[in-house]
Amino acid sequence: MKKENDKSTLLSRWRSREKSSAETTPITKAPGDIPIPLSRGQQRLYFLEQLYPNNPVYNSSEIYSFQGPLDVERLKKSLQLVIEANDILRCSFHLTEGIPIQKVNEDTSPDIRSIDLSQLSTQEKDRRQEEILTEDSLAPFNLEHAPLMRIILLKRSPLEHILFFTMHHIITDKWSMDLFRDQLTEYYKALSREESVKASKGEIQFTDYAYWQQHQEVDPKQLQYWKNKLSGEIPFLQLPTDYPLPVKPSFNGGSYVKELPETLSLQIIALSKSLNVTPYVLLLTAFYVLLHRYSGQEDILIGSPISTRNSRVLEGIIGFFDETIVLRTQFQPNITFAELLTLVQRTTMESFSNKDVPFDLLVKELKPARSPANNPFFRTMFIYHDVPATPSFSQDIALSYTFYNKGVSKFDLTLYIALEKNVLTTELEYAADLFELGTMVRLQDHFRILLEGIIANPQYRIAEIPMLTPAEKEFFLHQRNTASGPYAHYNTIHEIIEEAAAKTPSAPAVVLGGNSLTYAELNTRATDVASAILSRTAGKNEIVGLFMERSAEMIVGLLGILKAGCAYLPLDTGYPASRIRYILEDSGVTLLLTENKSVPALGDVPSQLLIMSQIPASKNRLVGSIAPVGREDMAYVIYTSGSTGKPKGVPITHNNIINSTEGRLGFYQNDPKAFLLMSSISFDSSKAGVFWTLCTGGTLVVSEKEMEQDIDRMGEVIAKNKVTHTLMLPSLYNTIITYCDLAKLQSLRTVIVAGEACTSSVVSNHFEKLPQVSLYNEYGPTEATIWCIAHQIKKEDEDGIIPIGRAVANAEIYLLNAAHELVPKGAVGEIYIGGTGLAGTYLKNPELSSTVYIGHPFRKNGGHKLYKTGDLARYNKDGNLEFMGRADQQIKIRGFRVEIGEIEKIFEQYDAVDKAVVLVDDASGENSFTNDPSPDSAEIMKYMARIQDENQLEVLLRSIKDMKEEDRKYLLQQLQ
Ligand code: AMP
Ligand code: MG
Repeated sequence: MKKENDKSTLLSRWRSREKSSAETTPITKAPGDIPIPLSRGQQRLYFLEQLYPNNPVYNSSEIYSFQGPLDVERLKKSLQLVIEANDILRCSFHLTEGIPIQKVNEDTSPDIRSIDLSQLSTQEKDRRQEEILTEDSLAPFNLEHAPLMRIILLKRSPLEHILFFTMHHIITDKWSMDLFRDQLTEYYKALSREESVKASKGEIQFTDYAYWQQHQEVDPKQLQYWKNKLSGEIPFLQLPTDYPLPVKPSFNGGSYVKELPETLSLQIIALSKSLNVTPYVLLLTAFYVLLHRYSGQEDILIGSPISTRNSRVLEGIIGFFDETIVLRTQFQPNITFAELLTLVQRTTMESFSNKDVPFDLLVKELKPARSPANNPFFRTMFIYHDVPATPSFSQDIALSYTFYNKGVSKFDLTLYIALEKNVLTTELEYAADLFELGTMVRLQDHFRILLEGIIANPQYRIAEIPMLTPAEKEFFLHQRNTASGPYAHYNTIHEIIEEAAAKTPSAPAVVLGGNSLTYAELNTRATDVASAILSRTAGKNEIVGLFMERSAEMIVGLLGILKAGCAYLPLDTGYPASRIRYILEDSGVTLLLTENKSVPALGDVPSQLLIMSQIPASKNRLVGSIAPVGREDMAYVIYTSGSTGKPKGVPITHNNIINSTEGRLGFYQNDPKAFLLMSSISFDSSKAGVFWTLCTGGTLVVSEKEMEQDIDRMGEVIAKNKVTHTLMLPSLYNTIITYCDLAKLQSLRTVIVAGEACTSSVVSNHFEKLPQVSLYNEYGPTEATIWCIAHQIKKEDEDGIIPIGRAVANAEIYLLNAAHELVPKGAVGEIYIGGTGLAGTYLKNPELSSTVYIGHPFRKNGGHKLYKTGDLARYNKDGNLEFMGRADQQIKIRGFRVEIGEIEKIFEQYDAVDKAVVLVDDASGENSFTNDPSPDSAEIMKYMARIQDENQLEVLLRSIKDMKEEDRKYLLQQLQ
């Protein structure tokens, strides 16, 4: 049997070395009078059979098709001789005294089912054949009943026969199937020479090997190697799947076979020669790249079968000699393909030279943490083999054969590559629980394109090797929305509001509780404010603080600052004094618009105060001169948390906010008649309601302070003001529709959830309670002006991840990997945002700005930028984006961006603490609306880590400045 054609390769050199050393411990015949144990590999399969009984997953089928005058009787005789020559083909498996053993049975007659299809039409023949073979290949075996092999002989016509075998893997492997074929042909040929043919039975049989193997010691050095290699956490490969992982694998599978072009195949073989590696290692490395690009991971484990036929004598024996070897490679994402190749080669060599530790022993010794995959170390398998030349039965019979693999998959994904006559064929066997065929077609395309890139340049960085199909690139590079709307001729956002006010002066503009302002009143009073500001500031691009409780007046203040040509900086009156001071200092605000009752909460601030009630009326005429304000001037600043934990200012221009608002006119069916504003105006999400409503002449219904605590009150406000639109966190919306009297919510037409992931329970609840209301999911960081991706949620969405949708408001969206390359469809990438909504910088923080606003990788000219969000997403089948969590440790607590790392740092400042870990308790996140909006409050503290030593923790808590005594008590209580 000629298998190793490329003798020069390392792998084959290693193989020869291994064989010579194994030959020093010869395999002898097992004693005849004792029960024969199973080999280690067989034990593994036996165990799996007990775990998943009646499962066809370890069936192995092959189909031979004969064209020509086949002598059926001679074939049957040949089969009988093969069965006679190989004990293993007559073995059954039993449990005696708790130990599985194998028994050789004497009956050598082949169990053949002959079926004549010759009378059927060609089409019928094909259909029947497929039906028969599929059914047979999926019928389970009972290991106690020999033979564990079924044979079907189909007659399609006198000159066309199909021979089909299905064996249980416990008696065979791929190499054995080659031996089987060779032996069968030899006997057939011998019989045709009409010699009296006898079975040539080898001295050593598989059972002898099994006995021998069970008496071999495991090399402690090898075991130690694996202990080192596989210790610690085993990363679970994050393959993008079409369906979520099932609790228990069904092993239902599919397979997709495709040849690589011959030129490419030849180039791969040639490249592996010139790089002095085997095609196995080269293709395996390409598979690593593929998995890395799909998962974004840098520590990847792949399984690969390996044969334990270590000695020459075993090469002629049929049986199950497969072991599984774990190939773990850790690498940096910025390395080149050639560098990765070296690493993979090293992994392979090392693993192969320590291969004598059986896989099940490894599992037993290392006790890997339970993994959601059906295999403890890996989800994917890689198999490469050279296909041997097809033996010939006789000169006038043409034989072709192939593996027959239908409907099962042992692993989540297996890549088989076969080399036959200079052509590489790829086969993807996939778990049907997880993947669709279309996904495999794409994956195969990606693999081919990667290989083409590797051929073109083995020095490509692995992150940059081209991989996407032209159709995908076309799709990804056009994930932008370019709508132009009716606001093209306006320079500032307040001009648009002024025009709306002029159109409907007596319509209610702002309502809160019993107070309301008409558009005329809003406009006039805002002009008064503007005049007062103008007498104190230079106008244009000056930032004026706004520190007022929720009220209609607060909206007057906001508009007044804009009318003065300034940018407003909203500060929530509930913020801790330290945060307010920090923001005022950081932004350099010199003027703060406030009201008498809020002044005490301010504490000591560096800015001049302008008290609302003290502003004189100026008869709707702006007093003072104002420099012309343009689109690129600042309209407002939002302070938000981010990767450094320190709040930072996001300056939003008139262009940003006009564009963001204009986008709503095109995306939503209706503009708000009455919009309920829930969020604090210091959040960017509040701008959706404020500007959309005021620019289109609707009524802005401002929620009363802490109204989210009082669900009944919310219902009353909605009903009383006939609220049509609102925007809020999905968790808050869920609380409302769960507890509020639905009769009070009948005026609602459009509900937008935003700010955190919308769950399917929210969606189910919505369609149960308010099916007539349109529900939307908006996504967007402050840095991209409120929203950039949105989706109208449909009832059908409720079963999976609720999409965030597609680009809106002239946004461009890209999902990129660490090298800023597009990730393939379905894979998780980081969201990068481009387009008109981008703030482009942080206030007075060029350093931070340059880390999150990167040069546009696909539009290099014109100074375009992309914002790196830190959010992860992927495309679903419909081309909608799905939010997949954060790339960093940022979390959201009731709409606040909170950096876990920053909280940990505070803990770690304390000497007694080496390392702090902050955990988020998801369960208490939803529906927990309490009255203190400060992220420094107990609400957040309660998420803090459970540090083992309570004394330490108590000291620690006391060391945190600015912590309210009651919070401290509460926390300590929580920890007891
Ligand atoms: P902010 O800057 O306060 O608007 O917070 C923006 C962050 O909130 C995003 O980067 C996301 O992490 C999260 N976020 C906003 N909208 C959504 C949404 N619809 N689904 C999931 N997460 C969201
Ligand atoms: Mg937002």
